[in-house]
Amino acid sequence: MNPKPMGPIPPEYADQHGVLTIAGHLAGDWAAAGTPVFVYDAAIVAARIARFRAAMPAVDLHYAIKANPHPDLLAAIAPLVDGLDIASAGELHRALTVKPATAISFAGPGKRDTELEAAIAAGVTLNLESEAEATRAIAIADRLDRTPRLAVRVNPDIELRGSGMKMGGRPSPFGIDAVRVPALVRRLIAAGVDWRGFHIYAGSQALDADAVAETQAATVALAARLADEAGALPPLVNLGGGFGVPYFSGDRPLDIETIGSRLADALATRPTVLASSRFAIELGRWLVAEAGVYLARVVDRKESGGEIFIVLDGGLNHQLAASGNFGTVVRRNYPLAVADRMGEPVVETVNVVGPLCTPLDRLGDRVALPHIEPGDVIAIFLAGAYGATASPAAFLGHPPAIERVAV
Ligand SMILES: *Cc1c(COP(=O)(O)O)cnc(C)c1O
Repeated sequence: MNPKPMGPIPPEYADQHGVLTIAGHLAGDWAAAGTPVFVYDAAIVAARIARFRAAMPAVDLHYAIKANPHPDLLAAIAPLVDGLDIASAGELHRALTVKPATAISFAGPGKRDTELEAAIAAGVTLNLESEAEATRAIAIADRLDRTPRLAVRVNPDIELRGSGMKMGGRPSPFGIDAVRVPALVRRLIAAGVDWRGFHIYAGSQALDADAVAETQAATVALAARLADEAGALPPLVNLGGGFGVPYFSGDRPLDIETIGSRLADALATRPTVLASSRFAIELGRWLVAEAGVYLARVVDRKESGGEIFIVLDGGLNHQLAASGNFGTVVRRNYPLAVADRMGEPVVETVNVVGPLCTPLDRLGDRVALPHIEPGDVIAIFLAGAYGATASPAAFLGHPPAIERVAV
């Protein structure tokens, strides 16, 4: 049976031979207190943020907290970033515990009146997703006797080439079509709101630096055109994000230094209507994905039809993305390893599956690994983003995964 490739183990762990260490502790020690467990290493996130700062010193960095909203991790990240991007009242309450309201922006379609009210009362910026939402926000602010901080999310007429998930350049539930944006901005300003600028998000999970740089330059140009047509100076232009991470075989890490230098060029030559604007990039997975490892213990080893099945105590109920059922078209293998046998030779090709009664619950499809026995701990990398909170934890009634943060 020919093995199928796995994605690359992140460099923070790849050099380890023998026993996997996460944040200075043996994987087995993390697992001893119970499995399945997600371990997040805040030092890896801090190193990512430092690299971003060096590459893009003039640009604000926002963290999109839906990628990983664990309270301890959020508390570690908040002081290191300029803003938090949120998408619900639940995230709003969490964000307000670690950041002032003026550093929080709230995007997402379908904001309820209660959510608009909570955000306006707190003084958080709303990234408006429709004209009707603008009307509701203004009415709620009037009732509260507050001046709302409102930005306009633009559905750009550009898309992020090569991105895993396209969110622009087509009919969309996200943002307001670019052609209608200037009229809305004029209306907001006439209504006396505190207009904060534009939020323009063109895609996600891009690994091609040229594509990201092109999109950013086009986004700057689009913001300038819209500001000109609206006759207003945007205080902030949120350029979106979309920085990807290498999940799969053949993926290469994103060259953010190239992006930084091309963005510096684009900003140096920007139209005068944006001369006084600040610029922000909002990132989720690029900051946290590689900082997380999901550890699950082998419960059973069985054979069927000539193939070996390694059955874990957790699966897609905790780490849906690794099963290929969260935004991927073709199922491919995330990087995984036998935590206490990192240095041992690869001797067999196995299927690594979770405990759920569905064939979708497969975390490793024909992966080549050292010999595995029940009791071993399997590490699945790239588990820091869209893991615990993006997986159907209630499905089949197993306990939720434990989450541990090393700060
Ligand atoms: C989900 C989301 C992000 C974060 O996306 P990543 O791919 O994790 O970086 C950023 N901005 C918006 C508007 C989002 O919806």
